[in-house]
Amino acid sequence: MPRNSAGQHFVTVSRRGADRIRAGHVWVYRSDVIEAAEVPPGAVVTVEEGGGRGRPPHPRTLGCAFYSSASEIAVRMISPKPVDDVPQLVRERMRAAIAYRERFVRETNAYRVVFSEGDFLPGLIADRYNDVLSFQVLTQAMDLPEMRKTLVSELRSAFHPAIVVERVDARVRKLEQLPEKENEIVFEDARPAGERPHPPPSEFPASGAPDGLPQASVPSTQFQMNGIRFFFDPLAGQKTGAFLDQRENYAAAARYARGEALDVFCYQGGFALHLARVCDRVTGVDSSRVALEAADENARLNGSDIEWMEANAFDLLRDYSDAGRHYDTIVLDPPAFAKSRRDAPAALRAYKELNLRALKMLRPGGILVTCSCSYHVSASDLVEAVTSASIDSHRNLRLLENRGQAKDHPSVLGIPETAYLKCLILLTS
Ligand code: SAH
Repeated sequence: MPRNSAGQHFVTVSRRGADRIRAGHVWVYRSDVIEAAEVPPGAVVTVEEGGGRGRPPHPRTLGCAFYSSASEIAVRMISPKPVDDVPQLVRERMRAAIAYRERFVRETNAYRVVFSEGDFLPGLIADRYNDVLSFQVLTQAMDLPEMRKTLVSELRSAFHPAIVVERVDARVRKLEQLPEKENEIVFEDARPAGERPHPPPSEFPASGAPDGLPQASVPSTQFQMNGIRFFFDPLAGQKTGAFLDQRENYAAAARYARGEALDVFCYQGGFALHLARVCDRVTGVDSSRVALEAADENARLNGSDIEWMEANAFDLLRDYSDAGRHYDTIVLDPPAFAKSRRDAPAALRAYKELNLRALKMLRPGGILVTCSCSYHVSASDLVEAVTSASIDSHRNLRLLENRGQAKDHPSVLGIPETAYLKCLILLTS
């Protein structure tokens, strides 16, 4: 029976699915679901291991989970124990996530407040950009009205934000068969920053632009990380701001960078702005004009002189390395080349090509900062691609730092998908 008298729903999973949970993971794929009849989308379910041949006659209860009727990830565990009050659990987990940031996140008023499975809140992402809180709902369960109400009220009471914005990932909503939506302000505090109950600690104005710069469109804000300022426009279609997961790597790169620097795949200038504080000259390259315009505004906000170039990184690196150009520092932070396991071989060829070109241009004693945000390219895959580039370019490389994502994107042992960002800092000779 899918439903008992208490209105609880049940999902039966195969031994393989159960083993995965016992090994510390929280997902069960649809192919490992034996029965989930009449379970509504987004329901909280009790997960049981099916009593197949050689198994005990009684089902074994594995815990409580969110169920999705659409995603390939059918089950996301939320607790090994029964949960009576799910909104209360979400509230407690959000408070724990916020307390974690208070303990471990430094030098910024922009960070990920909730990182889905990384904070044991599958399907919820929340970010803080100074006085703007944004969230994303990625599963049917988190999209239920009661959950949304809970999460918005927690964000409001913890941060007293000027606005709370929902940012929509249209692709994920489609996969989860959730109704289409637009980015939307779900809460706005009309009072000026000073009159809000507890304005979030910040040395920067809540919105607007400093003298001499055009007033940014409302509701935009500014945030800072590592002492560098950024504009943030929460309703812009593209992901905007900075890549919060790189925040600690920006600071690390700046500890080694010097001389003439090239930031390839610079987006809105995350690395370039940090490098500009320590390097003699910085050039940022990206194929997106919109990103470069935002990067230029960020540079002006910080009083930095950076040259921005709109170009295809592969073409530019080939032309520059063929022309014998040289740099002292090069950052490579491409988009995720491998969106699935199938793409991994092509992605590795692309990583090798980029790194090979960069190595040819680095002067002796130069610094290479090379990143990959593809989960399907492992840290050792990336090391292998860079090693192969170092052999082909006859350049020795020494590893200064082997880094991952910033601590506001916690990765959980047992859930490998929560660790995806790699950042190697290397010294050429
Ligand atoms: N380093 C950036 C994040 C890079 S995201 C930061 O820290 O903020 C990847 C960027 O690569 C995007 O801005 C995208 O516009 C750009 N991009 C994608 N393909 C590209 C290509 N072939 N050439 C140049 N830029 C590209």
